[in-house]
Amino acid sequence: MSTGLFKGVNAMGHIGWVRRKCRICARTLIIGRDMVYHCPKCSKDRDAFFCEADYKRLKGRCPFCGSELKLVI
Ligand SMILES: [Zn+2]
Ligand SMILES: [Zn+2]
Repeated sequence: MSTGLFKGVNAMGHIGWVRRKCRICARTLIIGRDMVYHCPKCSKDRDAFFCEADYKRLKGRCPFCGSELKLVI
C-alpha cells in the first residue's frame, strides 16, 4: 500500500530520535539521521550544535571558543 506517503506522520510520533537545533540557522537536527556537529567544550554549559552546512562554513571550528567541532553519532 502507499505507506510511504505517511512516513512523515509516523516519524513525528516516533520517540527514538534526539532532536537538537543548529545554533546558527535554527534548523532542527536529528541525531542519528542528520550530520550533527557539536563543540565538546561549549556543550557542557550551553547547546552548541551545528548543521553540516554551518560546519563547513565555520571550517570545522566552534564560533564561541575556536575548538574543533566533533561529529555527534
Ligand atoms: Zn545550521
Ligand atoms: Zn566551543
